[in-house]
Formats: sequence, structure tokens, C-alpha cells
Amino acid sequence: MKRILGGILSIVIAGYTVAPLRAATDAAEAIAIRITPVVASIDNLPIPVKGSDGLFHLVYEVNIVNVTNETATLNRLDVVDARSGHTLASLDASQIAQRLSVASSRTSTTADLGPSQMGILYLHVLVHGAQAIPASLKHELTVTLKGQSLAETIAPAAVRPPTTLVLAPPLKGRRYVAGDGCCDSIRHVRATLPINGQLFDGQRFAIDWEQLDAQGRIRVGDSKTPESYVIYGQPVYAAANATVVAAVDGMPNSPPGALPANMRADEADGNHVVLDLGHGNYALYAHLAPHSLMVKPGQRVREGQMLGRVGTSGNSSEPHLHFQVSNGPLPLASNGVPYVLRQFTASQRVTSTAAFDKATEDGQPIAVEPLDGPSRHADVLPLDLSIVDFTH
Ligand SMILES: [Zn+2]
Repeated sequence: MKRILGGILSIVIAGYTVAPLRAATDAAEAIAIRITPVVASIDNLPIPVKGSDGLFHLVYEVNIVNVTNETATLNRLDVVDARSGHTLASLDASQIAQRLSVASSRTSTTADLGPSQMGILYLHVLVHGAQAIPASLKHELTVTLKGQSLAETIAPAAVRPPTTLVLAPPLKGRRYVAGDGCCDSIRHVRATLPINGQLFDGQRFAIDWEQLDAQGRIRVGDSKTPESYVIYGQPVYAAANATVVAAVDGMPNSPPGALPANMRADEADGNHVVLDLGHGNYALYAHLAPHSLMVKPGQRVREGQMLGRVGTSGNSSEPHLHFQVSNGPLPLASNGVPYVLRQFTASQRVTSTAAFDKATEDGQPIAVEPLDGPSRHADVLPLDLSIVDFTH
């Protein structure tokens, strides 16, 4: 087929060619070729999960690179259903800044990417109902470079089917708090790590479970004593029939009050169990109590079987259960995937992560607020700071 290069036009901003170049062939197959100041990609396609608010949540990251030698400001981003053209979410510059991680910092005060700088934009898109989940997404970005605004379409991405991974609760009993849970908690959702030459976010859907006593306290008594924390020593249970792929014990509890210094990456999970749930899904139970493990690698376990007890070993600042599911047997070198819990009750939530941290530090009753809607939940993911009973 005869190809004709037609209508070549370039605009130069301070020596940087930005747009548009047009390589036209037959009119029907004309493809617009545009030089763009930022490029972007999505390493992990979103897997929607139904949350305890009844909505579907898409949690994913867009890696954005400014390929110019000027500062690029990300002024606006629209997340668009690629098929219908319907806009699902819109972020202005300040909202982009709140979701942007640059230069190894999990937070940013601006929506700027410096010359040749990469940023990770952590997105959380809400969808009302399974029928409304898009088959694919695209992202319409407005960038300002040397005072000129440019529109780009970046990061086209298929959306994977909603998760069908239904698990039993990893704990039993009442008043558990889903700390740093889905979908915007910085400490887990933004825990992207460069490992073996690749970015991984194993903690994307992790929860740090704490437990409250009847007065709403995370701990009763001395803050430096692991046993003061209400959750300390609680049994943890297999969330499904599974095979144990890792069972590490013998590490001491880390002194409560602060994260340990100089913790090696391979010791971060402390005493822990990894279960192979099948279909490429692996569950991690981290920071377990010393000498509490009851399983060995290679062992088959049944749903509800006790694995060990909650502790504070490894990279842990107070007793809690870190529970996550990811797509590989190495918790740090794999990517977090969503799941739902078969049944639980929740009628309140902690008011904020700051309130959660305060109650951990001062031992006073935690600040709570009511949750809207029915308190009984089935086949949904408990959202951040929910206060959950596992009594079924
Ligand atoms: Zn954690």
C-alpha cells in the first residue's frame, strides 16, 4: 500500500518538539503521531473489588515519566471508560499532588515532575454496580510545560474481571479494626518497592488488624509490653484450604513504640506464614508471636485451621496482624491483589488514620463514627478503618 507522509507540522517550545506530527496514509487509516512530554504505563491491570460500602473499587498505579528537560506540571487527569467515553473520575492538580509519589517519597506537595523524573500516581476509582465496570480505561492528561498546556491520552489499560477470591476471616472474635486498609491508605497502598530490578506493590490491599477492648482501647497498660495490646496472642486462622509455602518462626518481638532500626528487607515480615491459595494467589500472615507457629512448609491446611498467634516480630511498631493477598509466594516481590471476606459484621469505623495512631499511642478509647447501611456483610472487602466482628 502506498504511504504518503502528509501534513507534517511541529511546534517547538524552548527547543522541545511537542506536537503534532501527523503521518497520514489513506484517510481511513490515518494515525496521529504526536511527540508527548510525558509517557506513562500501568504495570498491574486493575482488578475491581466490591467493598463494604457496596461500591466496586479499582485501585491501581500509573507510572508517569517526564521525558523532557523541563519541569512538567500534571494539571488534570480524567479517568475515562475507553469504550463509552464516560468519565469515571477527574483529578485537578491538587488532587493529583495528593496521589503522586516522586523521588522515593510516598507523598508530594506538588503535581510537578522534574526533568527526567518518574512519578507513581496512585489511583482509586469508584464504580456503582458490577454492570458499570468498564472493560478498559484510558487517561486524559493535561500537562503544562513552559507555560503551555498540552493534552495527552496516556496509559490505556484493560480492566480485569472483579475478584472472585472469597476468603474466611483470618481472625475470630469481635471489634477488629481494619487499619491502613483499602483503598487510599498511604502506608500500605503506596508501599511500592524496587526489588530485583522491578517495582512491586505487595501491600496494595493489605490490612493491619488491631483489636479493641469493650471500652474501645487498642491497649490496656504499659505501651512497651506486647501483652498490653488487646490483639496480642490472638490465634490466626487459614483463610482457605491451602498449602503452606513459608513458615518462619524464631524471631523475637520488636519492642513496641517505634519501627525497629536497620531492619533487613528479608526480616520485615518477622515470624510469618505464607499460604498458597491456588490460582496464583498467596496469603501472608506477618509479625506473628515468637514460637507460636503451628504449621510447616509443604503442609496442607484446612480453612479455619489455626496457624499461629498475633505478635509484633519484624518491621512492626506494635502487635497487629498484617494480612495481605498477593500474586506470588514472596510477599515483597509480588503484587497485591484484592479479595473479599465471606461474612462479617461492621456498624462503626474509626474516624481517621490519625485517630487510629493516637489510640495506639495514648491507650485511650478510639474515636469512632457510625457506618451507613446494613451492618451484616457478605463477599465484600472490609474498607479502611472498619470495626469488624468475625462471630459467624
Ligand atoms: Zn502492615
